Amino acid sequence: MIAITSCKTEVKERDGKLKIVTTTTMITDMVKNIGGDKVNVKGLMGSGVDPHLYKASEGDVSKLFNADVIIYSGLHLEGKLEDIFEKMRTQQKKTIAVSDAIDKSGLIGSEYFASSYDPHIWFHIGYWKQATQFVVSELKKLDPENADSFEINGQAYIAKLDALAKEIHAIIETLPVEKRILVTAHDAFNYFGKLHNFEVVGLQGLSTATEAGVQDVQKLANFIIEKNIKAIFVESSVPKRTIEALQAAVKSKDHEVAIGGTLYSDALGDAGTVEGTYIGMYKYNVQTIVNALK
Ligand SMILES: [Zn+2]
Repeated sequence: MIAITSCKTEVKERDGKLKIVTTTTMITDMVKNIGGDKVNVKGLMGSGVDPHLYKASEGDVSKLFNADVIIYSGLHLEGKLEDIFEKMRTQQKKTIAVSDAIDKSGLIGSEYFASSYDPHIWFHIGYWKQATQFVVSELKKLDPENADSFEINGQAYIAKLDALAKEIHAIIETLPVEKRILVTAHDAFNYFGKLHNFEVVGLQGLSTATEAGVQDVQKLANFIIEKNIKAIFVESSVPKRTIEALQAAVKSKDHEVAIGGTLYSDALGDAGTVEGTYIGMYKYNVQTIVNALK
């Protein structure tokens, strides 16, 4: 339970800008691209932070209470913040789940989440464009004075996402389809797989809240040997010991599998770096995957 103490630490900006609190780094990046200097964006999670396990600090709770609007991913990605979002709504606080932009028929089902869907939608660039459009229209409603600015910025960002999709497609085309098997720490890449025709296997399942068992590791080690997979991948927001255990299991069966690098799955890279943006993260991931599996 989180004790909610209102207003005590209120830090209301006097600049008249819409105060937005975002959750994951992917959303923070998107909202900053749309809002530009017309809004005040505070992201709760930094690089390397796992949204599945993230709990709100006292400071976060006061940020959330002082926000004009809260923008989050949804589909139970931020599983431990759901109760707070609910509380915010009962207090008439505006909350926006970007996953509401995606038609349910396009979502991948999952028994692991209370939402019944895989929440890692940002890896589908088309869905991320829809999410961007959705946030643009919501911000226009909340701050009509700056509607033109949100629209122009949003369309410019969508154009960049279109260019990203083309660039990524060309890189992935260089990897033969039979080599498109992506083994990572947890199942964050199902939408990526759907979009780019990869078979995707996560050691820990869809949420990092469940640990991989010894049997899972042995089973996946056999799969890697059988399919002659060259490399497996660590994720920046998941401890690397699980993937190292998998590599060791393959080795114990007299085979070698490389660790192909660290992918950004549920969090972007450090702020101020190329990988600290959604577009930079996506390119980095694809280059890392293609180079290691070729
Ligand atoms: Zn995840």
